[in-house]
Amino acid sequence: MSKHLSLLDATQPPHRVTHRVTAIAGDGIGPEVMAAARRVLDAAGVSIAWEDAEAGGAAFARGVVSGVPSETIASIARTRVLFKGPLETPVGHGGKSANVTLRKLFETFANVRPVREIPGVPTRFSGSGVDLVVVRENVEDLYAGIEHMQTPEVAQCLKLISRKGCEKIVRLAFELARAEGRTRVHCATKANIMKLTEGLMKKVFEEIATDYPEIEAKHIIIDNCAHQLVMKPQQFQVIVTTNLNGDILSDLCSGLIGGLGFSPSVNLGHDVAIFEPVHGSAPDIAGQDKANPTAMILSGAILLRHLGEMEAAIRVENAVLATLEEGAARTPDMAAGGPSVGTRAYTEAVIAHLGCAPKDHAARAAAPLRIPARMAGASMRPAPARAAIGVDVFIESESEPEAIGSALAALAVGHGFELKMISNRGTQVYPARDAETDCVNHWRCRFLATSRAADIPARTLARLLEAIEVAGWRWMHIEKLQEFDGVPAYTRAQGED
Ligand code: NAP
Repeated sequence: MSKHLSLLDATQPPHRVTHRVTAIAGDGIGPEVMAAARRVLDAAGVSIAWEDAEAGGAAFARGVVSGVPSETIASIARTRVLFKGPLETPVGHGGKSANVTLRKLFETFANVRPVREIPGVPTRFSGSGVDLVVVRENVEDLYAGIEHMQTPEVAQCLKLISRKGCEKIVRLAFELARAEGRTRVHCATKANIMKLTEGLMKKVFEEIATDYPEIEAKHIIIDNCAHQLVMKPQQFQVIVTTNLNGDILSDLCSGLIGGLGFSPSVNLGHDVAIFEPVHGSAPDIAGQDKANPTAMILSGAILLRHLGEMEAAIRVENAVLATLEEGAARTPDMAAGGPSVGTRAYTEAVIAHLGCAPKDHAARAAAPLRIPARMAGASMRPAPARAAIGVDVFIESESEPEAIGSALAALAVGHGFELKMISNRGTQVYPARDAETDCVNHWRCRFLATSRAADIPARTLARLLEAIEVAGWRWMHIEKLQEFDGVPAYTRAQGED
């Protein structure tokens, strides 16, 4: 464990230093909210030498395929601290997300999103005591974006969840709860359906919870968590979850406190931290002096805490809260159709409130947050006893399941396999069940080895694949069926016995 960051630590080092911070203004409303936040941080009297860098739209436009130029990577590698605005990602087409690339390049494995009711910002949930933190795993899961079109009409995205990734994020969530004096951590997963991937997060959560006996550890199914968040949000203190779940849940949580314009976040790695608002580039309001810069300014306040500038951080937070509590300066998203001011005027109001404190909002005291130490090596456990008992071969075909099944069953004999079943998008269709399946041209054919061994030699698999190919079937993917310590390391199809 290493001491690294306090989100709400009230101690202040006396010395005054100049901090080097990389800044990416970003796309859409990014430059407006970044300018606002930098004005406030500068006005708070902190000395920051900004290294302006580029990523996202402008980088894509000049042909940087990843959206993150090497000069930007070099700057972050130097400063270890990035303050960034939102970056636009083409939706449904085009290049990878430059945001995700930045998070993954620097292994910022935790996305921490505090959500607390804000004085002077009325919402449907005002008075319900919303005060929670979403701790989202930040580099794994479907978000890794490992996708393939397996047939011209069927797409696949790999959901990779590792024990190491789960251990880091779960431990961080408990450490955060401990540092902030919180007494309950929920783990939100879809382990009832995805028993191996989401189930791994649940399993690791239950194991690690035993190291934190003073903290109540509760598992909750993610859809119920969304429901409970809008019914009784005050029951939640810390929610730890997988990447995509956390992405969706944390936007929902922003809605509990007034909208995306109010939610700051930090992406934490072992020694790099990225501070950014939860919201995106909001192209619909870009360049119109309408954006709410609160989330960006509060992300800046968390950045100041990270730099050890505790007094300035609290001054900035208090100035924002006092401005909102007073209610004279509101950007359009918080004005509910009433009189509003622009981004720039709101920013001036925040600066004018530096030195003020909100009446109805006490900062949460906290000890420094201990970030789990980097774990050496790709694996942390002794290899289990393992056996390979078969193989799933995925084929593309327009034929009916009965035709595919009878052909492949005959073909398997003589190659050391029997065909156990065929499924279509996870539902068994061969041998036929009394079920209706609207099949597509993507079939998972499950072959079990007729003799059991520690592994299936590659040449055995190659002979099976060759036989499949020679018989005129097009295969596009295979997956070994393994057992670890005697436990099947794969799931059954729906309807498979
Ligand atoms: P979005 O940019 O967060 O905007 C959704 C809506 O929320 C906006 O249309 C606006 O609503 C409101 N909003 C968001 N931030 C606001 C602010 N600061 N002040 C006032 N209103 C605000 O989400 P999106 O439209 O789904 O995504 C747009 C682009 O941003 C996409 O390319 C996406 O990939 C990217 N994105 C980037 C990040 C990131 O960089 N971390 C995160 C999320 C999305 P109104 O309609 O009420 O004006």
